[in-house]
Amino acid sequence: MAGVNLKHVTKKYEGKVVAVADFNLDIEDKEFIIFVGPSGCGKTTTLRMIAGLEEITEGEIYIDGRLVNDVQPKDRDIAMVFQNYALYPHMTVFENMAYSLKLKKIPKNEIKASVYEAAKMLEIEYLLDRKPKALSGGQRQRVALGRAMVRQPKVFLMDEPLSNLDAKLRGQMRTKIIKLHQDLQTTFIYVTHDQIEAMTMGTRIVVMKDGYIQQVDTPQTLYEKPDNLFVAGFIGSPQMNFREVSVDKFGEEVYLKFGKNSIKLPCEKARKLEALGYMGKEVVVGIRPENILDGQTCPDPHTACVVEAGVEVVEMLGSETLLHVKIEGTDFVARVNPKKQVKAGDVIKLALDADKVHIFDKETEKTIT
Ligand code: ATP
Repeated sequence: MAGVNLKHVTKKYEGKVVAVADFNLDIEDKEFIIFVGPSGCGKTTTLRMIAGLEEITEGEIYIDGRLVNDVQPKDRDIAMVFQNYALYPHMTVFENMAYSLKLKKIPKNEIKASVYEAAKMLEIEYLLDRKPKALSGGQRQRVALGRAMVRQPKVFLMDEPLSNLDAKLRGQMRTKIIKLHQDLQTTFIYVTHDQIEAMTMGTRIVVMKDGYIQQVDTPQTLYEKPDNLFVAGFIGSPQMNFREVSVDKFGEEVYLKFGKNSIKLPCEKARKLEALGYMGKEVVVGIRPENILDGQTCPDPHTACVVEAGVEVVEMLGSETLLHVKIEGTDFVARVNPKKQVKAGDVIKLALDADKVHIFDKETEKTIT
């Protein structure tokens, strides 16, 4: 059993640059947790503090219930896989994978069994006699994973392990690592700046920005119920569309108004805005590309706001088409049926699905509803 607990962990470089601020997180045993966020948000620093490669300025880190602040990296029962997997060039794959066990003076037959077991799981048995220079990028990355696996660590730490691979290989390795996690039943902590990688691999995702945790949730919850504008914009590709709008009330109905358009809000969202005193104020509305529907075929025009959109770019992706459009001077991206006949320069009708809009406070950027 190897949970990892971070309590009020802070890292200041040279006493002033706050790289990680008051980080609190309980990672459960066997979890596959992802740290994701833009460059410089503190992901690597957090991982390195868990590994013991970076001193903690404040706070406590526990691995498997044991306080490890002053425990050497080699004694933490963790294994780390980096982006530049740095295999020893003069050693064969077998020797690379066996190295840490050899240092621990494990008997030869046990080393052999461990290396073969890991190699089998990773499907690299046929490479064991090769030197790293005779391997492709993906094969090297698998050897690096194998080298970490043979140590049977309680926790795997991975820092952008796939970022040096091309897109196709990255996809394959992503699946391999998910499978590995299922087979090994060990805690995985994985750093990436790629939200697609985060969404497809993690059981839970920690979204970070400027050293602070923004939200910790499952991929689905992050997508459907982002806590704030940053998370809403960071998770999802293409990203959520945003526009400042004003909140107005006519009779019992509440509308979000921009230009000559009005989005009539469903009852629950309307009452929430009213109760929190947003009438007459400006808010930010967010709408995902798939919630912008075809204005001609939209199922219920009463719950959607039909708008005029000027098509600027049509991106045909096969299974779907992305339309880059301008609506009342704002850029939007809509994900539509690939069968829709449309070209740049057209003016078309699109429908914004009022049930699916997200509404954010303009100042705090927190989600209202
Ligand atoms: P990336 O995706 O670019 O690797 P990251 O989210 O992993 O970014 P960190 O590498 O953890 O971010 O860096 C967090 C912050 O700490 C950044 O502002 C960075 O400039 C700063 N930082 C990192 N290492 C040091 C250091 N050794 N000395 C001073 N500042 C540092």
